[in-house]
Amino acid sequence: MSVQELHRDSGGLKAGSPPMMRMPPRAAKTRGSIGQWEGRKVFPGRAVSDGSSGQGGLSGAADLFRETLDQARREGRTYLMEHESKEILAAAGIATTGYLVARSADEAAEMARVVGYPVALKIVSPDVVHKSDSGGVRLKLTHPDAVRAAYGEMVAAYRFQHIVGVSVQPMAAPGVEAIVGVTRDPSFGPVLMFGLGGIFVEVIKDVTFRVLPVTARDVDEMLGEIKGYPILAGFRGKKVDLPALKALLLRISDLVMACPEIAEIDLNPLFLYAAGNVVVDARMFVGEPLPRTTAVPAADLQDFFYPKSIAVLGASGVPGKLGYNVLSNLMTHGFSGRLYPINPKHPEVQGLKAYASIEAVPEAVDVAIVIVPAKDALAAIETCCAKGVRFIVVESAGFAETGEQGETIQARIHEVVQQGGCRILGPNCSGVINTHHRMVQSIGPVAGLGAGNIGLIAQAGVYAAGILTGLRQVMDFGIVATIGNKMDIDETDVLEFLGSDEHIDVIALYMEDVRSGRRFIDAARAVTATKPVVVLKSGRTEAGKRAVNSHTASLAGNDAVNDAAFRQGGIIRARDNEHLFGLMKAFAKQPLPEGDGVLVVTYTGSLGVAATDTLCLSGLRLAELEPSLKTRLMKIMPGYVKTLNPVDYSFSMDPEQVRKTLAIGGGSADVSAFIVVIQGEILGSFIDALQGMDLQGKPVLACVACKEFMMADVIAMENAGIPVYSTVEMAAEVLAAMRRYRRYRETLRP
Ligand code: ADP
Ligand code: MG
Repeated sequence: MSVQELHRDSGGLKAGSPPMMRMPPRAAKTRGSIGQWEGRKVFPGRAVSDGSSGQGGLSGAADLFRETLDQARREGRTYLMEHESKEILAAAGIATTGYLVARSADEAAEMARVVGYPVALKIVSPDVVHKSDSGGVRLKLTHPDAVRAAYGEMVAAYRFQHIVGVSVQPMAAPGVEAIVGVTRDPSFGPVLMFGLGGIFVEVIKDVTFRVLPVTARDVDEMLGEIKGYPILAGFRGKKVDLPALKALLLRISDLVMACPEIAEIDLNPLFLYAAGNVVVDARMFVGEPLPRTTAVPAADLQDFFYPKSIAVLGASGVPGKLGYNVLSNLMTHGFSGRLYPINPKHPEVQGLKAYASIEAVPEAVDVAIVIVPAKDALAAIETCCAKGVRFIVVESAGFAETGEQGETIQARIHEVVQQGGCRILGPNCSGVINTHHRMVQSIGPVAGLGAGNIGLIAQAGVYAAGILTGLRQVMDFGIVATIGNKMDIDETDVLEFLGSDEHIDVIALYMEDVRSGRRFIDAARAVTATKPVVVLKSGRTEAGKRAVNSHTASLAGNDAVNDAAFRQGGIIRARDNEHLFGLMKAFAKQPLPEGDGVLVVTYTGSLGVAATDTLCLSGLRLAELEPSLKTRLMKIMPGYVKTLNPVDYSFSMDPEQVRKTLAIGGGSADVSAFIVVIQGEILGSFIDALQGMDLQGKPVLACVACKEFMMADVIAMENAGIPVYSTVEMAAEVLAAMRRYRRYRETLRP
């Protein structure tokens, strides 16, 4: 008889046995004959690493889960008890301690003999979730009398609760305690958690997450990520069976994918051994399955980002009005397609022929921009749908972000556009900018944009406008999309499009929440295979969350899960706005480093040392020049310069020296990148020397201490293609992120 069959026979919650027996303490009835346990082993101690998938494979586990779920639902519970959970896990090929459920003291003693001493006794009750908290776990019992006594005490202690019985299980051999869990994230759906048990999880919170389903690579990364990894990998001669642990994590992932009603799992503890592992305690919570977010085909947004005609509903001739700005932005930036102002009161707006309604426009309209008051938005959108417009941009505010009434209007709009078969951006956004199409839909006046290779996705239009005003001095954007309340077109739709747009080389996202869940990760993974994606996610803290709620009516997810999700998508996460901008411009202007060696050129030893520290802390190192190159370098160095990297030219540093030094570094096989620290007061004299230098495809980043106080030369240097940072630490950190991204991409294409 198998473990599973034995489990079934053990008086648990199988058909035919009353599942929740209220057991009067003395009258507990023995079920079945005691003799039937003779000679059977409950725990064969099989590790999951052997690759077999348990009795009946995952489908067997799924069937058993469904059966247990039905039972639980009939009883109105969402909690699956330890023995039920273990049975499902065992069916999925995951080793557990096993158990037998006793319903009398004598039966408990007999079962203890069968499973083998020492044993653990645990209360089995749908009302008791944390067993040991209330005295429901008795460990290391070594004698039948002790088992009988413990049984009696436990049943007495829980006499006012529904109890199914008392589980008798072998004491698992001591091992490394770990915790494995599954929970649901509001943005990403089911997530897997792993951590070491005991104080590691309680005090240090040394746990790691991944959004389900996970790949073997995800699982590898998870284990490597926790601070306690050395304990897993082998500490003081002890190590754990990593292949078995990885197999278990993958099996849990498969189980949750096969059983979408699983809302939470807790394997706590799981004991890890040199060979195999065993689940010592398990529980599950069940709920309604989550809607699937993965299988959405990429939308065709070509005509949305490159429309041939745009109508502006609410276009105004009164300067200062938002409807004025939108139309004037389109005109002043030279949008080359057809423009149709829609205004029932004026036959002409800003010199263009206006139409009383969009339906009066004689030709087809690709994009309709709606900038009418929220109360009139629905009617305006209905006319767009009637006209057959495929894309609508709602820049008006006053919808879900303002409360219940706004939510109702937004929901109604959603229905209308769905019926009309069109896609909608916003509401509460500032439209799209596509400098390669001379299209600026912004609600605020925007000027002086160059056509560049950066794609930006921002939730808030005002944020985008604010940063563009400054950043356009030193960065050229290609497409900027503000998604606002994203009732339809969301970050993932835009990300997919930017990934495929030939003008875009780097994508930056400023997000307050991710609503497209797992789909976002999958899309990001596809995009990051060719283009770097940098994200700044706000709303990390509780206070931040509240701010987000009142802002765009969105909920921020758990930040550890965001971190995990971004990693799974290959996305680079920026710490703050400054970090985001620092990353964007380097990725936009410079090639990726092919190796780890960096040549640092400086005019001050202090910043040379600081650069070296940050480089080393972030996984890079100082390059070592080849002997012949060292000789060449020494020839151009003044006698007082002592080190070859960082090259410290002190206050005599001049543009020609630096140019020659970089040229030498360009020829070195060990140099993959440069950091040049330049004196602010003479920065201007370096621009000509460095601009357009052939550095053999190696990136160069400049640092000018306190650059914000001498912007004219900094902007000129940036426009010469060399990103400038205020601190060497930031320059080194950005370089390291570029290197990591390059390595990541290589692992995708071995
Ligand atoms: P709880 O419901 O309180 O989480 P557990 O089943 O996890 O109950 O038991 C509490 C602790 O007792 C576990 O963390 C573990 O250290 C120990 N324990 C429980 N069952 C066993 C067993 N079969 N073998 C060894 N130790 C056990
Ligand atoms: Mg436990």
